[in-house]
Amino acid sequence: MPITLEEAKALKHGDQLHHSASTKADGSCMVYRVSGRPKTWKTRPDEVQVPLKYGLRGTAYLTEKDLDSVHLEGDCRYIQFRDLIPGDMFEFRNRVSGMAEGPWLKRGPRLYIHVDDYHKGVPERHKVGSINVWVYIVRDHPL
Ligand SMILES: [Zn+2]
Repeated sequence: MPITLEEAKALKHGDQLHHSASTKADGSCMVYRVSGRPKTWKTRPDEVQVPLKYGLRGTAYLTEKDLDSVHLEGDCRYIQFRDLIPGDMFEFRNRVSGMAEGPWLKRGPRLYIHVDDYHKGVPERHKVGSINVWVYIVRDHPL
């Protein structure tokens, strides 16, 4: 989930933000470290500017326009496929060739079903090999 304007204003030096679209080479979220106090303005309450560092020397600012692109480290829902547990509903972070778009439900060890099929009562179960990809945990699912 994206961070809110209030959360952005409350960030502190050293806090970590994850980028929701950019990943590191291993597929995990790109991490940004807050490097100073968020700047706010009394006359422009809808705006914020947070200084960030990333990688070895990168610097950037988070503003109110970027809130949808980042999430708090503690809110991160991206995990590796192999770390899913039965009951988890998930979507693949990146398109996986040959796999329908999610969400998918993990029903047991090596047992997955597409949510559309689950709703239709389709008995077919989709087995997926153990693949080294990242997925997004869907928490607010209707099942
Ligand atoms: Zn993350």
